[in-house]
Parts: sequence; C-alpha cells; structure tokens
Amino acid sequence: MATPVSDQEKRKQISIRGIVGVENVAELKKGFNRHLHFTLVKDRNVATQRDYYFALAHTVRDHLVGRWIRTQQFYYETDPKRVYYLSLEFYMGRTLQNTMINLGLQNACDEAIYQMEEDAGLGNGGLGRLAACFLDSMATLGLAAYGYGIRYEYGIFNQKIKEGWQVEEADDWLRYGNPWEKARPEFMLPVHFYGRVEETKDGSKWVDTQVVLAMPYDTPIPGYMNNTVNTMRLWSARAPNDFNLQDFNVGDYIQAVLDRNLAENISRVLYPNDNFFEGKELRLKQEYFVVAATLQDIIRRFKNSKRDSASTTISFETFPDKVAIQLNDTHPAMAIPELMRIFVDIEKLDWDTAWDLTKRTFAYTNHTVLPEALERWPVQLMETLLPRHLQIIYQINQNHLDRIAALFPKDMDRLRRMSLIEEDGGKRINMAHLCIVGSHAVNGVAEIHSNIIKTDAIGEEYVKELSQLQKLNDLVDDDTFIRDISKVKQENKLKFAQYLEKEYKVKINPSSMFDVHVKRIHEYKRQLLNCLHIITLYNRIKKDPTAPFVPRTVIIGGKAAPGYHMAKMIIKLITSVAEVVNKDPVVGSNLKVIFLENYRVSLAEKVIPATDLSEQISTAGTEASGTGNMKFMLNGALTIGTMDGANVEMAEEAGEDNLFIFGMRVEDVAEMDKKGYDAMKYYKELPELKQAIDQIKSGFFSPKQPELFKDLINMLFNHDRFKVFADFEDYVQCQERVSKLYENPKEWTKMVIKNIAASGKFSSDRTITDYATEIWGVEPTDLKIPPPNEPREAIEETARALKKM
Ligand SMILES: *Cc1c(COP(=O)(O)O)cnc(C)c1O
Repeated sequence: MATPVSDQEKRKQISIRGIVGVENVAELKKGFNRHLHFTLVKDRNVATQRDYYFALAHTVRDHLVGRWIRTQQFYYETDPKRVYYLSLEFYMGRTLQNTMINLGLQNACDEAIYQMEEDAGLGNGGLGRLAACFLDSMATLGLAAYGYGIRYEYGIFNQKIKEGWQVEEADDWLRYGNPWEKARPEFMLPVHFYGRVEETKDGSKWVDTQVVLAMPYDTPIPGYMNNTVNTMRLWSARAPNDFNLQDFNVGDYIQAVLDRNLAENISRVLYPNDNFFEGKELRLKQEYFVVAATLQDIIRRFKNSKRDSASTTISFETFPDKVAIQLNDTHPAMAIPELMRIFVDIEKLDWDTAWDLTKRTFAYTNHTVLPEALERWPVQLMETLLPRHLQIIYQINQNHLDRIAALFPKDMDRLRRMSLIEEDGGKRINMAHLCIVGSHAVNGVAEIHSNIIKTDAIGEEYVKELSQLQKLNDLVDDDTFIRDISKVKQENKLKFAQYLEKEYKVKINPSSMFDVHVKRIHEYKRQLLNCLHIITLYNRIKKDPTAPFVPRTVIIGGKAAPGYHMAKMIIKLITSVAEVVNKDPVVGSNLKVIFLENYRVSLAEKVIPATDLSEQISTAGTEASGTGNMKFMLNGALTIGTMDGANVEMAEEAGEDNLFIFGMRVEDVAEMDKKGYDAMKYYKELPELKQAIDQIKSGFFSPKQPELFKDLINMLFNHDRFKVFADFEDYVQCQERVSKLYENPKEWTKMVIKNIAASGKFSSDRTITDYATEIWGVEPTDLKIPPPNEPREAIEETARALKKM
C-alpha cells in the first residue's frame, strides 16, 4: 500500500513502539562498530554524523543481503512469471529508515543520522515517485518483480532560491558513495547505436554500429516484513576499452581516452522536464540504452530458466507466460521494436509469431493528456541512431494501417489519425501509438498511494491493508479519537515549523492553517491561481486590519524545469509577493507566505504530514491523476481542488461534501474552449482580481523592476491555456468556506477523519494487486520466503505451498 511518499511513511509511525528485540539491538551495535572501524576507518573521536550514517547503512544492508540472495535463489528455483517495470525515472528518496522499518529493525535512532542520507532523486515528480512506490508494493506483495532504469550520475537538480529566483545546482548524489548499490561489472552488456542495415539471405543485419557498454548496479528492494528482497537494476554507460582506438583515431591515444566521456555521457544526467517532450538526441540514446540492456537481461534470464529442459533449441512460445513488461509512459517504448528485432533478426522467428509474442508481453501506462508532453521522435533522428528499429516501426505501422483499412475502407482521415507516423511538418513517430499497438493492455493513471498520521485506534492491520482504514468511520464522533487525531497533526505542524526555523530561519505560527501547494511548477497546476488568492487575502487585511481573519501560512514549493521561462517567473512572483506580505507589520502573523526551497521526496515526507489544507487546483482535464492529492488525504489534510484527475475519485470515496470542490468541470472547460475564453471579461467584472493583477502589473511586488512580470500578465490576458481567471471567483469563495470550517477545530477534524477513512482505495498495494491480476496474470501472495537462517528445505516447502495455491 505505498504511494508517492510510499507506504513506508505510514509504517514509520507504528514501528516507533519498537519491534526490535534486545538481541537485535546488540547485534546492530556490533555491526555498527565494526563498519565504523573497518569500512569507514574511523574511531568515535573523529567520526562525523555522515560516518555514523554510513556505518548504520552498511549494518542495515548486511541484514538485507541474506534475504536478497535467498529471494533470488527462490525465484530461480520456482521460476515464476517475472514482472519487469521499465522506467526512465525512479524517484526513491532516502532508503535507510524505510529499510529498517521493513526489516522490523526500527528503533530510536537519532533523526539527524537519517538526515545525512542523500535523496536518490532519479525522477522529476509523480511519474518517478509512482515507479518507486510500485517497486515497494511489488516486493510487499511477493511478486517476482524487477525495476529497470538508468543510474544517472546526476539526479534532479538541487533548487536554490537566490534573490527570489530559482538557481539550479548539480545533484552530485554519489559523491560520498552509495551504500545501497552493488555494481555488477561481470554482467556488463553491449548496446549498439548508429550503423546501417544490411539485407542478407538470412534476414536483416544491423552492422557497423558504435558500441557502448551497460554496467548494471543492483539495489535491494525489501518487502514489508515478508523477507522478500527484489532487485532494482540501473544501468550505467561505460565506454569499451578499445573506444576510438581502432581505426581513424589510431595514434591519438590521449584524445581517445578523453573521448570515452562521449559514450559515458548517456547515463550522466536526468532530463529535468516534467510533462514536457524536448526531443534531444541524448535523451533518445538514454531511452534506447535502458531498453536494449534490459531486454538482453530479460532474455538471458528466460533462456536460463529453460536450461535443463531436454530440447537444445529454446522455444519462445512460453515467453509471455513467463515475462510481463510494464512501460512507465512512452519513455521506454523502444522496447517494442527492440524485442521484435531480437525475435526476428537474432532468434529467427517469423514476423507474425514475433508480433504475437511481443503484444502479449507488453503493457503500457499513459501518464498525461498534455500535447506538449507526448513523445514524437523525428524519423530522421531515428534513422541515424537506430536504422533497423525504424524499419521495424515502419513494418509495424504498415500492418497496423492495413488492419484499419480493412475494418474501415476508404476512411483516409482515420488512417492519418491512427498512423504511428505523423506527416505534418517533418515526419515524426508517435510513441504513444506505438505503445498502444504493441501492448495487450493500456491503462491511465489514477487511484493509488499512502502515508498516515500516528494512531493505533484501529490496530496495525491497516499497515498491510489500507482498506482497514474504513473502520475509522466508526470513530468520527468519538471525542477522544478526534482529540488524538488533532493532537498528532499539531505535533507534526510543530515539528515542521521547527525544521523551517532551523534550516531557513523563518518563523511561522504553528496554530495558523498550513495551506500547502507542493508539486512541480507548471502553468497547468495553476500556482498562479493560488498566488492571486494570497494577494486577495493580503488586500483584504490591508483594507480592514481589524476585521476577523483566520490565520494562514501558505507554503508553496516545487521545481521549475530549467528551460521553462514562465514557470521560473511564477517562482519569482511567489517569492516577490512573500517579501511584501511577510514584511508588512499590518499583516503580522495572520498571513505568511513561504516558498519551500528544493521540494523533493525527503521534504514531501516532512511537509505533507504537517499540512491542514492541500491545494490540488489544476484546470479540469489537465492532471491525469496526480498522486500528491492522495498523499495529503491519507495524511490528514483536507483538499481544496477542482474536479480533475484523482480528485474526482477522492470526492467519490469521501463524499463531495468532505472536499472543497470548486471551479469548472471538464465539460465547462470544453464548452468555454468552443465559445472562446475571454480573460478580460473576468478582470473587468471582479474587482479583487483586477486589484491583484493591477498590483502585479504596476510593480507593487517588484518596485525596483516594475516591468518584471509583464510576460506573466501578457500570458494571463492573451494566451492562458489554463484559464486562471475563469476559476478565480469560485476559488476565492471556496477558500472562505475553508477558513470558516477551520474556525471550528472539531468539525474540521471530523472531516479529516472521514477523509482518512475513505483513503484506502489510494494504496499502491491495492493498485498493484489489480495490475497483477488484470494485466500481468500473476498472483500476489502473503507467503513469507524463509529467512536465511532457516534450513534450505524450508524454501522447498514454501515453493510447494505456493504451487498448491
Ligand atoms: C508525490 C510527489 C510529486 C507529485 O505531486 P503531484 O501533486 O501529483 O504533482 C512530485 N514530487 C514529489 C517529491 C512527490 O513526492
């Protein structure tokens, strides 16, 4: 039952009571001292906090190793169907505390030690965090699953705020070493690029290629208290030792060694775009790199499991019964033509057989509806980089169009719409279409995730089974429980306020409403709408400083893609408004605005449990699901949101009256698109909107540079695709209802309880259970793999039990 902040967040709360036995503590201490001495070569006099972190991490890792080996051995011997989750992003965050919880090793370790760990920030936002949650859930549900991706040397950039602007810093997360990974140079695999296709009498041959090596790094993925440890395998690019030393560069040895960087750049850095397709050659190389290395691994493992069958030629007939590959968006879509290439060119299967096997192997998850996010690779680039794959894609398209033409004769418009190749402008390959025709299952995102506040009112069953949360409904009118829940929230807020004061020297009023809007900065996510509300509140206070006001701390955080000018201007506007509001003595502690620097997984884990009000205010029809919305719900925040993405299901589960729903519905937006959106109309009709916009335009928030926000203003009036003004009035009114309820703490908390009780559906364990049965054809199990200190026969017994099920 994980989610973006992952299941383990809720487990964190429970295990504090300490499952750790005395003998475990003693053993842990021994391991810790041994690693401090032998691994870190330090004694207590010179050891730093970081040394303590590494010593503890290595100790905890030691506890995983036996279970890890045992699990893999178990898979080898029982040969279950394997599930492969292919993703260009795994946004893992920190590992130590979660791993201790999963092993039942959690004890009162100094928080500061956990904080020494670097986030594994190999993701941008929801898509990457989802992949991380799914790995956790697949292990918890006992699936023989693998995550495959790229070991970026630099993850998502670190965001610094300087004079109100976002400044990017490289995320050198491996600088001090990564105790969780194990390099496997012995399993290095070649990946080919460029070259040409030669037609021979026994089929097409891809020749004269340039080779880059893919070095695997394995990270253990422990399930929750079930002794299962799965593998996340990330590939790192290595130049072959003869790189550039064969032909034309002979003699320039130094230059050849320096040029090894060219090959190794493939895994250098994560592209920092969220929901945006940039179309760079290096990115296509990354996408093919992970796909080519992973498929070799998958096929090697498949053939290996057949090693002892009587026949010498291996049959691929059973491939889809043994292998399921899930594509996390279109980023790994090249896996489809790559598997076809392997089947047809290398394994010599006929096309139709190969295609049938391929389709039955793949499933694809779509993550976005924004057109600018859809991957459409230029045919020319594909032809240069992967000429054989382009041929295969053309063949797939030909067969696909033939089928459509047979079904819908003379429907040229349909053929054009459904083609894998788009002809308008330069020729491009529509990767979503490729995924749809190459998969047997296609799904969108929605319904997932978790993380919860500390309480034991319903026992601990919910830790494995979030549907148990429904039991909380019986406690909605229980005064003691209401007090407990609000106390936990108050403690979380206090802790976060202390963190902010310590790290950023900002002081906030812990009894104010924590109104939180954290996610990537995007026009469609409408941080601007929130900003206009803040300005409106400010103007109301200024107009009548003695009028009653429900105090708020508005916290906005998120990274802007470095090349996204408008998103960077939005950050600058928020920090500029904050500067004015926070310094105004008339406002005092009634309204504070914080821009939360460097929002990332480990910061989400701090801010979400401290939130009262969750902002989920995208234009209806633009957020495919969202996952942040679910994390907040599960953590005892109320939602102000539009009827968009999973907000819709949240309202369905909790009842629409238990969320603050406002604004246009999808139909209203569509209607407005037909009639035309007139921003000026709202500006003229709504005095508070007009005042806020006039202030931004006149330099009220940027007195040294009155023109600073002219691009933003121009966008809002003339090309606002996300119709900020159209929802302003309803949003502000809805916020008034929020404030009114917040004045009544008991009623507020009752609504919180109803939300938590309704949040079980959004568990990623629940989602993965559905994927397992509906898409992958595998069965979740709560069987525990016998731990390494039990006799080998125990493994055979568990295997037999599994077969009977
Ligand atoms: C969950 C999460 C996201 C996704 O948030 P949305 O509100 O769904 O966009 C982004 N970043 C981090 C660090 C997260 O934990």
